[in-house]
Amino acid sequence: MIRTFAELDLDPSLLEAIEAMGYERPTEVQAQTIPQALEARDILASAPTGTGKTAAFAIPAIQYLLDFPRKKAGPARVLILTPTRELAMQVAEQTKQLAANTHLKVATITGGVTYDTHADTLAQTQDIVVATPGRLMEYIEAERFDCRAIEWLILDEADRMLDMGFGPTVDRLSAECRWRKQTLLFSATLEGRGVEGFTADLLKNPAQIDAEPSLRERKKITQWYHRADSADHKLALLKHILTEQAQRSIVFLKTRERLAELRQQLDSAQITCSWIQGEMPQDRRNNAISRFKEGSVNILLATDVAARGIDLPDVSHVINYDMPRSADVYLHRIGRTARAGKKGIAISIVEAHDQPMMDRVARYTKELIKERFIDGMRPTHKKPVFKKKKKVKKDDKKKVVKKKTTKKK
Ligand code: AMP
Repeated sequence: MIRTFAELDLDPSLLEAIEAMGYERPTEVQAQTIPQALEARDILASAPTGTGKTAAFAIPAIQYLLDFPRKKAGPARVLILTPTRELAMQVAEQTKQLAANTHLKVATITGGVTYDTHADTLAQTQDIVVATPGRLMEYIEAERFDCRAIEWLILDEADRMLDMGFGPTVDRLSAECRWRKQTLLFSATLEGRGVEGFTADLLKNPAQIDAEPSLRERKKITQWYHRADSADHKLALLKHILTEQAQRSIVFLKTRERLAELRQQLDSAQITCSWIQGEMPQDRRNNAISRFKEGSVNILLATDVAARGIDLPDVSHVINYDMPRSADVYLHRIGRTARAGKKGIAISIVEAHDQPMMDRVARYTKELIKERFIDGMRPTHKKPVFKKKKKVKKDDKKKVVKKKTTKKK
């Protein structure tokens, strides 16, 4: 296994860019992916956001384009598909930085951008195009984008694309890119939700890469929870955490209504925050994100939908003001902190009805998530105990099945 970027036999211009970006050594997914991708293998990688997956595909793609330079001007040779436009913009940004010392051109095609802007982009020669599936398909149908020159097809956050209903579109795009040489697929999870069948159709004998953050890596996230007696108590706890403990926080809420309510409450308390929610005009969303990124605001309120795939660096605290709907989403949320070797804190503020989800999360992550208290804000209620649902006995199940089959006859 390689330990340094220097061992990868990369072009000096690429190595310089990697160094300029401050990447000292490859992350696990990079160390595993880059050599295999450069040996012309298809890649099937399980790598959640925060593992360095973007560079894991951008670095070999750039190296490939440098190894096999184009002979004449023409359409893009590497296509990167992402589920959301924010992710597309981030991926493009990182790829541009990595390609900064080369002549390679990187463009994005996403929704929320006027056709004219894209028309200019499409008229010029591009090497790498980062696109969202829906918008790209529109251009292909209108014969404004040509996939025949695509040599590498890269799918980022494939599970999210499936979740968002892009499966059929991606299949069609894959057919459009049938002349390609290599396919690289990255997904936070590879199990369930149809990911397996989907990947089988797209990839040829892929190298399987598993870069789930190791338990050791995950341990860098310290998790705990506070119990709240009421909505007011919950708000008081949050205000305390935001003003007394946290440096840079993302606060997760389950709906935009809940987000709007909290926004006003924080506003009244003169706690400055920015926010993102689903179906927000792109410029406003970008604005909110960049204010947070630049550090002019240190609190970002977000719904899960809005936060999908967005890379928000240097987050010290992830706060679950509303518990997520599943343990998997919990892991996604807390993955926003402790990026690339940093330490992070994940705090959940739970009411009685959230306790079963809190317990489920602890079982799922196989970690003990302890309760903590803040002086003067201790809950007065006892921690509720929920009994597990009674399981249907095996014998009963058999009976039911038997009954059904006899009925059919
Ligand atoms: P990603 O998983 O691609 O969203 O990357 C998460 C963050 O890690 C991004 O902010 C990257 O800039 C950063 N990153 C990627 N590769 C490295 C590396 N080898 N060393 C340090 N940071 C990295």
